[in-house]
Amino acid sequence: MYRARTVLAAVVAVASIAASLVTASPQAVAAESGAEYCRLGITRWTYTIYTMHVRSSIPASFNSSITSAMRQWSGIPGSALRYYGPQFRSGVANPEYLLYLNNFANSGLPDVPGITLGVSGSSGTHRTAEVLLNSRFSWNTAGTMNQAQRRVDVWTIAVHEMGHASGLAHPYSNCGPVTAAERASVMYVNWTRKRVPNSDDRAGIAAIY
Ligand SMILES: [Zn+2]
Repeated sequence: MYRARTVLAAVVAVASIAASLVTASPQAVAAESGAEYCRLGITRWTYTIYTMHVRSSIPASFNSSITSAMRQWSGIPGSALRYYGPQFRSGVANPEYLLYLNNFANSGLPDVPGITLGVSGSSGTHRTAEVLLNSRFSWNTAGTMNQAQRRVDVWTIAVHEMGHASGLAHPYSNCGPVTAAERASVMYVNWTRKRVPNSDDRAGIAAIY
C-alpha cells in the first residue's frame, strides 16, 4: 500500500551554511553557550525503542560504520531512546526504522548525500523513518569528506541523518543565532568528518526523550 512520506530533512547546500555562519555573532555565542539544539520542523519518534533495518542495497563494508552511527543516539544519559540492531540485509516489510542506498535524486529529491523521510502519526510524532544514502555519491569508511569530489564518510552522514530521524533539525534552520556548541554538533553540516554527537546533540535527545 502506498504511504505518503514527508521529507524530515535533507543535507543542505553549503551556501546556506555559509550564510548562517555570517549571521552568528560572537555575543550570541557567548550568551547561548550550552544546549541550543534545534528541533524546528522535525518531529520525534512516537515511542522510544526501535530496531533499525538495513536493506541489502547497503554494502557489507558499510556495516560497522552504520552500527557505530546508530549506537551514538542510543542510551544517551537522560534519554529513554534506545536503538537495536541494525538488522543487515533485512527483508522485513515496512519496518519502522529503515536505511538503504538509493538514487533518490532521480525521484526529484535534492542531490545531497543523505535524506531522511518520515511518516507522521498522531500528536505530532513520526511512526516511521527512512534514512536514504545517495548512490550518486562516492562513499568511504575512512572519514573522508570532500564536497567537490562528492566523497562522503558513511559514519558522518549516517549519524547526521539518524539525528534527523531521532528528532533533531539543523541549527542553522531558523533556530536563532548559531552557538559554538551547535556549530560543533553533528547536526551542523560543514563537510568535515563528524562522527560523535556533542553536548548540544545529546542535550537535544535528552530533552526530547
Ligand atoms: Zn540534515
